[in-house]
Amino acid sequence: MTVRAPAKVNLHLAVGAPEDDGYHPLATVFQAVGLFDEVTASRAPGGTFTVEVTGTDASRVPEDHSNLAVRAARAVARTAGPDDEPGLGVHLHIRKQIPVAGGMAGGSADAAAALVACDALWGLDLPRDQLADLGAEIGADVPFLLLGGTAVGLGHGDRLTPALSRGSWSWVLLVSSQELSTPAVYGELDRLRRGRAVVEPRVSDPLMQALRSGDPAALGASLHNDLQHAAVSLLPELDHTLEYVAAAAPTGYLVSGSGPTVAVLAEDEQHAAELAVALADAPGVSRVLRASAPVPGCRVVETGVRG
Ligand code: ATP
Repeated sequence: MTVRAPAKVNLHLAVGAPEDDGYHPLATVFQAVGLFDEVTASRAPGGTFTVEVTGTDASRVPEDHSNLAVRAARAVARTAGPDDEPGLGVHLHIRKQIPVAGGMAGGSADAAAALVACDALWGLDLPRDQLADLGAEIGADVPFLLLGGTAVGLGHGDRLTPALSRGSWSWVLLVSSQELSTPAVYGELDRLRRGRAVVEPRVSDPLMQALRSGDPAALGASLHNDLQHAAVSLLPELDHTLEYVAAAAPTGYLVSGSGPTVAVLAEDEQHAAELAVALADAPGVSRVLRASAPVPGCRVVETGVRG
């Protein structure tokens, strides 16, 4: 059972002051982009949960029970009935393309794919809402990666409303040679904001209008990320990348999520191809990828049951 899960960019990411539980309230607009991890689930003896990771940067992904896809598989097994957990087992094979620790939710994508793959492998047929609830406990981005498309995320980013978006958007993704830890970037934002009033996070009206209009220039002008400043503060080289991108006159750009991947918006596919060439030598960048968006959330791509 093989499931494909997309990466995401946040077109808008507004972050509020941390609450008592340490979580930050968010108002974000997610877009699923055409860059995918694949997770294959195969039957394994009851109570066995194993994972193997291949593909880009596979060595940076844990192959033990801390892997988010394994946590997702165990959560599905528990839901099937606490008494059943020893009866269900799975071997997961993750083929990675999504940058690791790049702000594109690669781990959450694998968790979302594992939820769908295990549900199908074990013939449980759980409702998508239930899978989304299980996913939200593993990572706030997981429910969006199940849904896909373009959506507003409130709360911790897991209270989702699909958003209208006309046509297809062309992205160039600059993968950094460095990584950033998401909790560290949020911590740095809190540090930079210390002593200042923090406004309630809100979704921007111009951005929602731009999405509906299908006009790349309008979308480019309304991209925003509250975490960008904190990501640059932790990784000053990122500023050189951003300066290089600005000089190439893209339609828009921003740091994706907690970074350090930079998402560059193009006018159309032809412009994206030109930007990909122009940005190939951007400082601090290890890979330049192109992706169209929006794309659907996790989907089964192959149902042959192995093992
Ligand atoms: P986000 O955008 O959701 O904040 P990210 O894209 O910046 O996350 P991930 O690629 O999800 O970061 O990885 C963050 C860390 O999670 C990695 O350093 C890795 O150790 C761990 N991790 C656990 N499971 C996975 C997985 N299946 N894929 C990638 N990383 C994983």
